Amino acid sequence: MEILCLDLEGVLVPEIWIAFAEQTGISALKATTRDIPDYDQLMQQRLRILDEHQLGLSEIQSVINQLHPLEGAKSFLDWARSEFQVIILSDTFYEFAMPLMQKLAMPTLLCHRLITDESGRIVNYKLRQKDPKRASVIALQSLNYRIVAAGDSYNDTTMLSQADSGILFRAPENVIQEFPQFPAVFAYDDLKQKLLEFKDNL
Ligand SMILES: [Mg+2]
Repeated sequence: MEILCLDLEGVLVPEIWIAFAEQTGISALKATTRDIPDYDQLMQQRLRILDEHQLGLSEIQSVINQLHPLEGAKSFLDWARSEFQVIILSDTFYEFAMPLMQKLAMPTLLCHRLITDESGRIVNYKLRQKDPKRASVIALQSLNYRIVAAGDSYNDTTMLSQADSGILFRAPENVIQEFPQFPAVFAYDDLKQKLLEFKDNL
């Protein structure tokens, strides 16, 4: 049996923090790990900015509710779920992703959690584990599944390496150059083709 592990942001939905920053007009929230390499420092800054703008969980979710999956993502995912067992492996948070997951018919999602107090204020975050995408692939392989994985960025590359087959989807040029061992495709139809090749080669 095969499982398809898919990254979320950049593959099925927009980059959530960036889209959220655009939707709210809070440009300070556009900072990413490229600007602040220390992830904890970046997250603490994001939480501080949310506090300053008095954005609690319900306000955030209503903003994210205005966002949409990428064009063609829903029909691609519907197809993928008819061909594979699909698990989405993401470094986002359930509380952020949920409004978008509803628009994708609630596929299985493994990601992280935000910690809120009774008023809905986000006080912290909880990462599920270290190198979570790779660890998830290892766990699934231990159940005797063969894994094909697709993602767009650096945080996907350990998942792609661990998988029986890894595919870059809409990756930036620097990632494609640095990881020439993975085929790189840009359109959902080409991704479908690669996934079918994986199945045919079993
Ligand atoms: Mg991504």
